[in-house]
Amino acid sequence: MLRAEGILVWMDRLKILIHWFRRDLRLTDNTALAAAGREAAVVPFYVLDPERVRMDGHGPAYWQFHLESLRELSAKLEKQGSRLILREGALLAEMERLAAETGANGIFFNRLYEPASVDQEQKVAGLGRHLGIEVRTFKDYVLHEGGEVRTGSGSAYTIFTPYAKKWETLTKARPVKAIRCSVPPILKKLRTMRLPSLGRLGMSSALRIPAAGEKAGLDLLRRFVRERLAGYDQTRDFPAVDGTSRLSPHLCHGTVSIRSVYHAALAAAAKGTPRARRAGGVYLKELVWREFFSQVLAQFPFVGRGCFRPQYDRLKWRNREDWFLAWREGRTGYPLVDAAMRQLRETGWMHNRLRMMASMFLTKDLLIDWRWGERYFMEKLADGDMASNNGGWQWSAGTGTDAAPYFRIFSPARQSRRFDPGGVFIRQWLPGLVPLSAAEIHAPWLQKRLPLAKLDFPEPVVNHEVQRQKTLDMFDRINR
Ligand SMILES: Cc1cc2nc3c(=O)[nH]c(=O)nc-3n(C[C@H](O)[C@H](O)[C@H](O)COP(=O)(O)OP(=O)(O)OC[C@H]3O[C@@H](n4cnc5c(N)ncnc54)[C@H](O)[C@@H]3O)c2cc1C
Repeated sequence: MLRAEGILVWMDRLKILIHWFRRDLRLTDNTALAAAGREAAVVPFYVLDPERVRMDGHGPAYWQFHLESLRELSAKLEKQGSRLILREGALLAEMERLAAETGANGIFFNRLYEPASVDQEQKVAGLGRHLGIEVRTFKDYVLHEGGEVRTGSGSAYTIFTPYAKKWETLTKARPVKAIRCSVPPILKKLRTMRLPSLGRLGMSSALRIPAAGEKAGLDLLRRFVRERLAGYDQTRDFPAVDGTSRLSPHLCHGTVSIRSVYHAALAAAAKGTPRARRAGGVYLKELVWREFFSQVLAQFPFVGRGCFRPQYDRLKWRNREDWFLAWREGRTGYPLVDAAMRQLRETGWMHNRLRMMASMFLTKDLLIDWRWGERYFMEKLADGDMASNNGGWQWSAGTGTDAAPYFRIFSPARQSRRFDPGGVFIRQWLPGLVPLSAAEIHAPWLQKRLPLAKLDFPEPVVNHEVQRQKTLDMFDRINR
């Protein structure tokens, strides 16, 4: 018997279901977990597959966030008298072993949409058929899956604005009611391993990553809707201001659910002034971008390897290794780009305005293939989400779903003057530039008061205007 929102629910005591945790590391508002808890006693399960860790391209920031969130999840389960069963090994072998050890009647989990995750899901479904047990999957990572948001003729949207218009008309699921899962007696006897350290995964870290786990995520969400949401539309583009929600790592690892975020923002905006309602609308639109890119990857999985517009696979990128290194290390000589790259390396997070600027700089000033940058971001981000990362990179490179994007080329110095006018963000990450005034700091090579060598700051690796023309020529050769 279990208690859900004051209602007593009877269930078959013998029924046992495995809940497979993936990127849904939370107990509240977890669709598959709640469904399993309503029907049966639950075995909470997580598999650390070393092969997957090696192959999926994430680095220490992602894994540190993930492991810390798992640690919290495991502690919360213990508090409820349950246990997280953690195993290391190949997914299917571990899943089959656990199913045999527990005599489970089924496996429940939430769906993900990147090709490797879809492949895992198909294999687990095959295992279920082989074992003769139920495998049930749930929509949880997004509000709407690709199949729900269709054009009048039933095809997938490939352009954001009409997609967003349709998405907004659809009814959104409410957060799932909290449920305390019943614990099968066998759970106490099952083998589980200790959470590995980053070192065990072959990674080291002294990163200042965002606070991980469900509690930190929910606190962040509460504070954001209370204190910052009403000004979001005014502040979200300024990296020196704490104006965005910073929820991306939580949404990526599932320490906070997308339903909780959507409904909290919607409710807070509805209660506010007309200005606050407008800001809330701008925020919700950002969540639509996440869903848009998720469905682009799900429906056109080839974007994980090549350009959404296949003609651009023929672009002749210059791919200079020394420029790529300068970009990665924050030594391009363009202060806001360099400050952004240092924020990424040291914290595993980068402000959206800067992600757009740094990615456009790599592709359209340094003429380096967007896939190089995509890979590097994935390795450094704590919120590395294949769909959003790929979508962001193809947007900046001009190879993606946007209608006429390739001639949109940001000037790094102009972006810097506009979005970090006082140079506050730049000074935070590039202390060498502190002596420069707000007028000088965006293009240090133009001021003659202090030599660059004295500031310990490099000459620009390229001339923006020259490179801009080269990029246009590179695209024109394809479009001709
Ligand atoms: C080149 C590039 C790479 C990116 N890589 C990732 C990535 O790996 N993972 C990731 O979550 N986001 C990625 N983004 C999108 C965006 O930059 C981040 O989601 C955002 O900066 C996270 O900060 P926040 O939570 O404070 O955002 P907020 O402004 O508070 O937005 C709220 C939420 O909306 C979603 N969102 C906002 N903007 C976008 C966007 N442009 N595309 C998709 N979702 C969005 C995120 O889930 C975010 O947490 C990338 C963008 C670019 C240009």
